[in-house]
Amino acid sequence: MKFSEAYEPVIGLEVHAQLLTESKAFCGCTTKFGNEPNTNVCPICLGMPGVLPVLNKNVVEFVIRMGLATNCRIAPRSIFARKNYFYPDLPKGYQISQYEEPICTGGYVEIDLEDGTRKKIGLTRIHMEEDAGKSIHDQDAQTLMDINRCGGPLIEIVSEPDVRSPREAYLYLYKIRQIVTYLGICDGNMEEGSLRCDANVSVRKKGETSFGTKTEVKNMNSFRNVERAIEFEMNRQLRMLEDGEAVVQETLLWDADKNAAYPMRSKEEAHDYRYFPDPDLVPVLVDEPWIERVKSNLPEHPTTRRDRFISEYSLPWYDANILCEERGIADFFEAEISHLHKDDGAKQKEKIKLVANWVMTSVLRELGQRKIRIEDFSLPTGRLASMIELQVDGTISSRISKELWDEMLESNEDPKVIIEKKGLAQVSDEGAIEKIVNEVLEKNKLQVEKFLSGSERVFGFFVGEVMKATKGKANPTLVNSILKRRLSETVLSK
Ligand code: ADP
Ligand code: MG
Ligand code: ZN
Repeated sequence: MKFSEAYEPVIGLEVHAQLLTESKAFCGCTTKFGNEPNTNVCPICLGMPGVLPVLNKNVVEFVIRMGLATNCRIAPRSIFARKNYFYPDLPKGYQISQYEEPICTGGYVEIDLEDGTRKKIGLTRIHMEEDAGKSIHDQDAQTLMDINRCGGPLIEIVSEPDVRSPREAYLYLYKIRQIVTYLGICDGNMEEGSLRCDANVSVRKKGETSFGTKTEVKNMNSFRNVERAIEFEMNRQLRMLEDGEAVVQETLLWDADKNAAYPMRSKEEAHDYRYFPDPDLVPVLVDEPWIERVKSNLPEHPTTRRDRFISEYSLPWYDANILCEERGIADFFEAEISHLHKDDGAKQKEKIKLVANWVMTSVLRELGQRKIRIEDFSLPTGRLASMIELQVDGTISSRISKELWDEMLESNEDPKVIIEKKGLAQVSDEGAIEKIVNEVLEKNKLQVEKFLSGSERVFGFFVGEVMKATKGKANPTLVNSILKRRLSETVLSK
């Protein structure tokens, strides 16, 4: 459905990212996922009276990384607050969060729009908080509690209402995921809940400067669902506005099966969190040297890296974008590039482009088929580069390189060894090729006649026959030129 020309949606996103620290935010319990329910718990994360939380330094380290990677100001002093509410998955009765004085403020994330331009989405804040437990509704209509996740380390990234379409929301989320995974602070898995997104949506007449009443949509567990849920909600609000109804501020839950969002029961969302500074926790102090240390250890930003791939390796935007999508893939690509022999401009470019093509197709396909990550890909570093060298210097044809690649994955052997063993080297001996060409022409007199009477398509047939006779190993350039020469000599001799 096309959205009304007269209206526009205004969207702000709240993203929770589960941090990859080994222990929880305020106790020593492990954050390991998938353990027996209620085994990764202690008096602190169970919220027993009289216990004292102690902040995990790595949580601060990780949020500083995120803050710096998103151009935020890092507060030298920030405060933990208690967010009070009653829910079975929260035994303490409050969540430790940050409220009035969060650690990061005022940053932005740059997204890549489809038309090639970039747009900055402002970040209001990024703060640290703890996770709640999980309620499991079983078949017997009982609700069971798993407290393992309680006290797990989270950051919440709150955007300004700068997003103007479901697509932009998708691209924003994509960039957030890319950044947290590059930084190694979150695995970015939305399906498993390591990355969660709530969308705040309102609709207004174009040209208006104030915002309309917003609703908040929760419970989307994939990028697509975030896009769809926003699409649904902005259209629902548009219909209301066009019918002269007022949008009510409320929280909706996305139902992916029904492709619709439904209001939460109003009691559940009637929140008054009664925030107040947590008296058990001292202010978080971050000094300049700490910030500098984190800054100097930051990996290259994915967007910067993509731009560098374009300028340094002369790759098209599309290629650079795919190669930089995941840090491991970009690392793999650059490791192979560093194994290429240094050649002059054009030849080096050609080789780099071939490596890029190979990574984007064969490597990614292989990972997909084996359902593994690049980190678990066993091909020794430099093998792809040597294969490309052998292709470019004419030792093997590009057709044979596909066969060689499969052999390489199979045996893990060096390409030179495989070529030797399997006799895959390209035949560039003119005499040998000419002999085969002559045989092919001799055997196919009818086709030769056809060619001579003007049917040029038959040329491809001859090439195919020569390739077949050499098991694909004849140098295609030589095959072409020798065929042309022999055929024209045939014309002359007629
Ligand atoms: P709340 O107090 O309801 O949590 P906040 O002001 O903290 O609201 O904002 C939460 C999120 O909602 C932010 O991402 C913000 O950008 C977004 N937001 C605020 N007002 C609007 C609006 N009128 N329309 C869409 N999004 C909004
Ligand atoms: Mg909120
Ligand atoms: Zn604990």
